[in-house]
Amino acid sequence: VYRKQVKQGETIFGYEQPGDSAFLVESGQVRILDKITQKDSYLLGPGDMFGEYGVIAGASHYSAAVAEEDCLLLVVSREEIEEKTNSADPMISLFLKFFMERCHDLTKRHHGVPVTPQDQPAPLPHRRDIALRSHREQLLKEFQIKEELERALLNDEMVLYFQPIISLRGGFTAGFEALLRWQHPTRGLLSPYHFIDIAETTNMIVPIGDWVFREACKQARDFNLKTAELGKPEVFVSINISANQFAVPNISRRFKEITEETGADVSTIELEITESVLMEDTAHAKKVLGEVKELGFDLVLDDFGTGYSSLNYLHQFPIDKLKIDRSFTHTVLTDESSLEIVRAISGLAHNLNIEVVAEGIEEREQLSLYRDLDCHFGQGYLISKPLSVQDVYGILGT
Ligand code: C2E
Ligand code: CA
Ligand code: CA
Ligand code: CA
Repeated sequence: VYRKQVKQGETIFGYEQPGDSAFLVESGQVRILDKITQKDSYLLGPGDMFGEYGVIAGASHYSAAVAEEDCLLLVVSREEIEEKTNSADPMISLFLKFFMERCHDLTKRHHGVPVTPQDQPAPLPHRRDIALRSHREQLLKEFQIKEELERALLNDEMVLYFQPIISLRGGFTAGFEALLRWQHPTRGLLSPYHFIDIAETTNMIVPIGDWVFREACKQARDFNLKTAELGKPEVFVSINISANQFAVPNISRRFKEITEETGADVSTIELEITESVLMEDTAHAKKVLGEVKELGFDLVLDDFGTGYSSLNYLHQFPIDKLKIDRSFTHTVLTDESSLEIVRAISGLAHNLNIEVVAEGIEEREQLSLYRDLDCHFGQGYLISKPLSVQDVYGILGT
């Protein structure tokens, strides 16, 4: 959005000019002239909007706009409006698209009405913009998956698996990462790769995240009833928290409530966040991270090394652990630069008193390399695949 000054008598846009911005009148008056009669006109004042139709429906203006007096206008570009429309709830977005298209058709029909009655009105070409159509198909798909995800939550189709994380020094199971699965009625057990992105864009990640948090807390409580019974050390459960979830107002209070309701011990719950949480809105991130730390949750920085990876902001946030991304683990034995990065990360973490979790360990040599680098924890298929709750009890007993 930017502000534009126009002088009395100046044309803001002319007839048939493609619409690339909408205007909001801040002060002064604007005259809108109808294309057909070129006589009908009306005045708009502060708070009125014009030009929006051309922008949203991707049409040319059917009218012209001229400053009746000196005006201040707020200009909203097509890109801005499209960005907002596209990031809206898919239902609103789809509704808007249909509504504006219909509006477009109606106006064309209206303007196509012949001036003399004997002229045949030209049949209205139902020309749909290809880009618009594929966008609509995309929206429809999102809309369907959103419906499916809502149903999945209602029907208990979501399940958590738990992947063991071992202490590299002690060799024992120190905790588990909670990993979401969707037991789809027709497609089988789906990994989050199939639906997390759509859950993010449709904001379904918020209710799903809530469910994950509650379920993970319940299991953390039960796992530790078991460890206590067996006289073994406590195990932690780490939960993936998406950036959108993190942006929900009062999220830290929500985490606390759920933890209390389920009877889990906060000291056994870890929150896994990615660098994007830290980068998007640093002030907000600092505030929320401070709050959750205060409440007693441990913070784990996930996928470290893949994103912005600035080692220099690490000390600004109260991070307890960082997870070296599995892409480094996969190349650490063969690629000298991977090894250097892993060395640098673990060296820095040691200096900052941050514990290191190496993920994606599939080979013995990777495990021993991380042990040599004195990394604290290891996770990966070599140690164990993600387990069902029942299988977790199997390994807790051993
Ligand atoms: P992530 O946080 O990096 O989780 C680790 C992923 O690596 C898991 O995939 C896990 O099964 C897989 N993995 C573990 N060990 C190995 C290994 O040795 N080799 C290889 N190649 N892969 C290994 P999964 O469960 O499919 O999860 C994928 C991603 O989905 C996760 O990546 C995480 O970003 C996201 N995710 C999972 N559960 C949740 C959740 O409850 N909430 C949110 N917001 N995201 C989740
Ligand atoms: Ca993770
Ligand atoms: Ca802890
Ligand atoms: Ca990860």
